[in-house]
Amino acid sequence: MKFLELAKVYEELEKTSSYIAMKEILTKFFKKVSKDELGIVAYMSLGQIACQYADVNLGMADKMAVKSIALAGGEKEEIVLRKYKKSGDVGETAGEYAGRGTLTVKNVFETLHKIAQAEGGGSQERKTKLLANLLSQATPLEARYLARIVLGDLRLGVGDKTVLDALSTAYASKEARKELEHAYNICPDIGIIARTIAHKGINGIKKIGVEVGVPIQSMLCQRVKAIEEIGKKIGYPVIVEEKYDGERVQVHKKGNKIKLYSRRLEDITPQFPDIVQAIKKAVKGNCVLDSEVMPVDSKGNLLPFQILMQRRRKYDVQEYIKKVPVALFVFDILYNGRSLIREKYEKRYAILKRTVRQTDKIKLALQKMCKDSDCIEDLFNKTVEHGGEGVVIKNIHGPYEAGVRGWNWVKWKPEYVKGLRDTFDLVVVGAYYGRGRRAGTYGALLCAVYDEKKDRFLTLCKLGSGFNDKELFGLLKKFKKITHKPARLEVAKTIEADVWFDPRIVVEVTGAEITKSPNHTAGYALRFPRFLRWREKKPEQATTLKEILSFVK
Ligand code: ATP
Repeated sequence: MKFLELAKVYEELEKTSSYIAMKEILTKFFKKVSKDELGIVAYMSLGQIACQYADVNLGMADKMAVKSIALAGGEKEEIVLRKYKKSGDVGETAGEYAGRGTLTVKNVFETLHKIAQAEGGGSQERKTKLLANLLSQATPLEARYLARIVLGDLRLGVGDKTVLDALSTAYASKEARKELEHAYNICPDIGIIARTIAHKGINGIKKIGVEVGVPIQSMLCQRVKAIEEIGKKIGYPVIVEEKYDGERVQVHKKGNKIKLYSRRLEDITPQFPDIVQAIKKAVKGNCVLDSEVMPVDSKGNLLPFQILMQRRRKYDVQEYIKKVPVALFVFDILYNGRSLIREKYEKRYAILKRTVRQTDKIKLALQKMCKDSDCIEDLFNKTVEHGGEGVVIKNIHGPYEAGVRGWNWVKWKPEYVKGLRDTFDLVVVGAYYGRGRRAGTYGALLCAVYDEKKDRFLTLCKLGSGFNDKELFGLLKKFKKITHKPARLEVAKTIEADVWFDPRIVVEVTGAEITKSPNHTAGYALRFPRFLRWREKKPEQATTLKEILSFVK
């Protein structure tokens, strides 16, 4: 397939902001694509060349792209740079110098991979030349999108969900959409999903299971308003487990090869060489485990979450192993040579106990079987006494529901006891410049919830309270400005921000109440929001519109 065909689809997508229209454009296009190219096209409709967890990075900055454009167009670099500064859109600038139009999708995909693979001495030059070579073969329209892909700024507003929707209507039935989403939660690689549906249909999709090396979306907890609801929602007996407030870690072990993935499915193995060593000694066979890593003192007592932040580093890792000791609390097993997610929790836990030998560094989560709410409160009180975050109540018959916030896991935290609402995890989408004491940084951040149905972000509040000075003056560095409103954001004219950010960073906030609001596209506003902490979550894992609506009911 010619790359021009894909570029024309990009153009059509760029012209609309309607989710339904995008889905239709992609459905029509996917039907035309050959089975062999569907995987590539699925990645590229998201502006990617691999799944996110593979962490393939093109490693090209604006300056290198400008160099490539100059090289391809036989133009002076300063002139290209001037044009780019004026337009603020590398795509538009690239489009001014384009050529013949002989590119194929496969050729572009493979060259972009070569760009990503170029490393070490002279790699910048190699990357620049490879891109220049592509640009010299591109028509203006192709060059425009090529340049944007390279800088990770495609601006189409197409999210994973839109692609899944389009794949299911193009290749299966509307009813198959659920199966596709389920498979994507287990194997979050849109290329594999697209190739499987193209070649093996919905039956192939149904067979997708857990594999070592492919991180799966984490199962999440529901919440109840009163502990007495547990009986109705789950049914006794239940397993009650300590809820550890550290960082979620998914362990993938094949022989002595171990990878650790975060809740965002990022590879965090290099941060925890001590845990990797401990797993080698304590865990049997090939497996995938779900767990939480916690900072601990020399006696093994749990320490507050904030301390763990110091382990989030690329340098001085060995030094911080000693400074900030950690332990891993394992609470589930998802694979032990075969996929276990459809097994009941009771059975998975029995397998887990046989797989993990407890040591100082690797432990099983503290748990107890309960037949009534008094028993739940008992363990809850114990965990809160030693500074824990509360408990997770688990259905002993429940499967592992990847990526789902269902009733098989329910959390119960001290805030709920005090009759307060839980906190909110919001996506930061923009900011307003500060004045007075806050001059030189942002005065407030514009925060949004996620609307799962429309795959859009809807604003809920402006957040300006709760930051200490260090955080406040670190905001400028923490957020990278983009030149345009994020494509998947719906925002009212009345509260347009001074600067926009890609919906990437999630912040945890508390608030006093939620009230109706015409200014926020969520339809509601969170009053008196206060900053609590940054969260290691993907934007699509933030508080959803549906959750907000359930609060106000
Ligand atoms: P919160 O803000 O309450 O931490 P969350 O939005 O991060 O919640 P939830 O789905 O509400 O996520 O709670 C599940 C999280 O709790 C998991 O992501 C995991 O990191 C943590 N956790 C700690 N202990 C356990 C446990 N024993 N079982 C399951 N999850 C646990």
